[in-house]
Amino acid sequence: MNDISLPPHPTGQWPELAPGWVWLVGAGPGDPGLLTLNALSALRQADVIVYDALVEPAILEWARADAELIPAGKRGGRPSPKQRDISLTLVELARAGRRVLRLKGGDPFVFGRGGEEAETLADSDVPFRIIPGISAGIGGLAYAGIPATHRDVNQTLTFLTGHDHTGKAPHAVNWAAIATGSQVIVIYMGMKHLDEIAAKLIAAGRSADEPVAIVIRATTDDQTVLETTLSAAAKEVGEAGLLAPAIICIGRAVGLRDKLNWFNPAKS
Ligand code: SAH
Repeated sequence: MNDISLPPHPTGQWPELAPGWVWLVGAGPGDPGLLTLNALSALRQADVIVYDALVEPAILEWARADAELIPAGKRGGRPSPKQRDISLTLVELARAGRRVLRLKGGDPFVFGRGGEEAETLADSDVPFRIIPGISAGIGGLAYAGIPATHRDVNQTLTFLTGHDHTGKAPHAVNWAAIATGSQVIVIYMGMKHLDEIAAKLIAAGRSADEPVAIVIRATTDDQTVLETTLSAAAKEVGEAGLLAPAIICIGRAVGLRDKLNWFNPAKS
């Protein structure tokens, strides 16, 4: 058994992950130190952990030695289990009286389908708790020296997904509104359709020279950042052979990186 224990709770008790409950927990973007104390407490208590591919594997070392670990995300190119199946697995595990931890990358309610899983739990009368995590679109940018907001730069911030449930660039998005109305745009899952998204934003009035940062494997020792422009981004990503997971930041906030870039992970 791992000897990580939490300090006494300053105002009461750490919540108990009781048998029959599911905790939907954000693991943050990668750096294990970015877990919340409630997330660590969940790892110490759970007897079964259903985790996504984006969860940094080292974090699972904090699980109980006897915990059952169930992967629930895309791995090695194999297709991911269907969302419905994952949600129903959570229900079954809870009904079997297990203490269930559903561990997701970043924040469970930000482009993570945590809302859908929680709905299934609610529909099935399974009690649950949500433990937010640091989302890649905020924490990942911070590790690249990019503040999500800065008074001199932006009063608006848009989080965008690069594809919708059909796998295509999202159709419901009002590109003109975002191109002209949001000073900083942060895109999750945007690598595949970056070309199309950039073209839509430029067509809707965004400058082709707008600065762009692409932060790959943010907060990990493999973090890589590409600085480019809106018109050149897709081509440069292809030339550099960069792969997801990546957070894409569009806007003048990227320029602050010159001064604020503090995280330089050791490269082997
Ligand atoms: N719930 C997660 C997002 C899940 S969607 C969160 O709040 O962060 C998956 C996308 O998140 C990836 O395609 C990528 O765009 C982004 N992402 C997650 N972890 C990341 C990381 N360490 N570095 C860069 N992007 C990351």
